[in-house]
Amino acid sequence: MQTIACDVCKKKIDEPLTGRTFFYFAEHSVCESCKDNLENQIKSTMRGKNPFAYEWYDKLIGDSLVKSAQRGKN
Ligand SMILES: [Zn+2]
Repeated sequence: MQTIACDVCKKKIDEPLTGRTFFYFAEHSVCESCKDNLENQIKSTMRGKNPFAYEWYDKLIGDSLVKSAQRGKN
């Protein structure tokens, strides 16, 4: 069985279910709680963007992820 670790908090996800217990954003794997935190972080930026573009969203999440991962926390 493959074990995946969250790129942000480095927590291991024992039974990874894509889209349920972990998520992929711009080649990063993210656990559910980190995904929620990221989405909260970018929510205000999201409001100013219309129409919604998935490519842009994915990139924004990716950028936030890299920053979070560099800080070692969310
Ligand atoms: Zn995490």
